[in-house]
Amino acid sequence: MRKLLCILLALPLLARAPLTRAERSNFTETSTYQDVMELLWSLKASSNKLKIEFLATSAEGRKIPLAIVSQEGIKTPQEARALGKEVVYIEANIHAGEVEGKEASLMMIRDLVQGKHPELLKNQVVLFCPIFNPDGNEKFGRHRSEDNGPALAGVRYNGQGLDLNRDFIKQESPEVRGLVKALVKWDPVLFVDMHTTDGVYNRHVVTWQPQMAPWTDRALISYSWEIMFPEINSTMQKLGFRPIPYGNFLDRKNPEKGWGFWAVGARYGTNYVGLRNRFSILDENYARADFKTRVMGAYAFLKAILTFTSHHARQMREIEREADLRAMEEVAGSSFGVEFDLKKVMDFELLSYRFKIEKIPQEELKKYPSWFGGYLVKKTELPATYHLSLYSPLKPKRSVKLPAGYIILPSAAHLVKILLRNGIAVEKILRPFRAQVEEFKVEEIKASPLPFQGHHLKKVKGAYRVKTEKIPAGSFLVPLNQPLSRLAAVMLEPQSPDGFLTWGLLDATLVHEWSGKPWMVPIYRVATVPRVVAVVLK
Ligand SMILES: [Zn+2]
Repeated sequence: MRKLLCILLALPLLARAPLTRAERSNFTETSTYQDVMELLWSLKASSNKLKIEFLATSAEGRKIPLAIVSQEGIKTPQEARALGKEVVYIEANIHAGEVEGKEASLMMIRDLVQGKHPELLKNQVVLFCPIFNPDGNEKFGRHRSEDNGPALAGVRYNGQGLDLNRDFIKQESPEVRGLVKALVKWDPVLFVDMHTTDGVYNRHVVTWQPQMAPWTDRALISYSWEIMFPEINSTMQKLGFRPIPYGNFLDRKNPEKGWGFWAVGARYGTNYVGLRNRFSILDENYARADFKTRVMGAYAFLKAILTFTSHHARQMREIEREADLRAMEEVAGSSFGVEFDLKKVMDFELLSYRFKIEKIPQEELKKYPSWFGGYLVKKTELPATYHLSLYSPLKPKRSVKLPAGYIILPSAAHLVKILLRNGIAVEKILRPFRAQVEEFKVEEIKASPLPFQGHHLKKVKGAYRVKTEKIPAGSFLVPLNQPLSRLAAVMLEPQSPDGFLTWGLLDATLVHEWSGKPWMVPIYRVATVPRVVAVVLK
């Protein structure tokens, strides 16, 4: 009788298990911002396992929720640490038209909160940001012609018209600034960023890869490819999916030549996190798989990831701590690639189709983007399996030797705010001093003719010149013997292919007013960290 009573009492709770909009609409619609918030608030009201904080307020005034899911109702990183739990961060909808990560995250939050996968909360706290770009999400329309549902979805851009997954160096959006602060605060052992891709026709649903910036700590890279990638994929196989590394054909006309992934810059969230010596995963689900299959694939992927971290988070954290130490000891004076050739990363099997190549007639060429190379590559219905290698621009073709540290002159003080937000150690110099420095003399500046994300991207050529200089008070010192030295070097090194100079943050003094000639880069390099009267900034 008591048992029956328990069941009867539990029934209304089960009946109230809230569904996502995708589930309610039989996977024809995706959640609005209000749907997301209502689901989160109702779950929070019914369980202590869910806490909610906010990452930021978007340009259009929407508060971006961060759902903190744990067995114990943890609210802070200090509580997580005290209980010996590692933290995993999962984010969806950075490109707001790419929606299955949002739906799968909401389902996973609900299922974890309602006790469906208790083993996944045993050793970890999971942070979910299901709707990172709410302003983009709310601009529902038929924006995604390649997606096999839902009919209406949001846009890629945030309320400022920015692509948030290009904003991790310049950090001009409230979303990315809020995220960076949350990363510094919670220090997750793994960062997951969920997307949709309409690239090469294939028969997989989930494609993914770890942090890929060429300056990433070597142990993170090897662990990702040798342990994490195979083990997560083996769990995925048990769940009915067969992921491959994210990428595209190196040569559209010759699929056999290989698989390429070029987006290795620090501007991308997952690569940025790698440069913080933390693991990350870029998830790209295949747009032409139907919406329900994509949501189920993304859900299975979250389950496979959280299964992996529930077993390995401590080991991952150890690798990250060692990477922090190596960053303190090995980055200053090391060789830093500034131009790269393709390098083979790994081999895999792509389940795809035979393709038909058609030359585009001269008169129709204008209709297609130039990267089509004058050819249409059409899928046939004949399945084909390709044995491919993944290549990425990771082999340094030209390198520079990193200094012991950088001195930022007061004219570039605006950079310090970004560095500090990221947790990079900066000292403010209180008394002028003389030092031998290396100044980068710019010989050539190339700027992209059209603005990209609000900036004419710059590339400079030049050389370092050693000189003795009086460094004024109010300058800043950024030593490279610190855990975030990789990120600091990528941001500050004048020749970095994805640094502050690239993004135009040094434009003020880059070109001389009267002569129109290259002028100065207000960041000096020092071969040894000088002893200075300085205060550590916070
Ligand atoms: Zn995307």
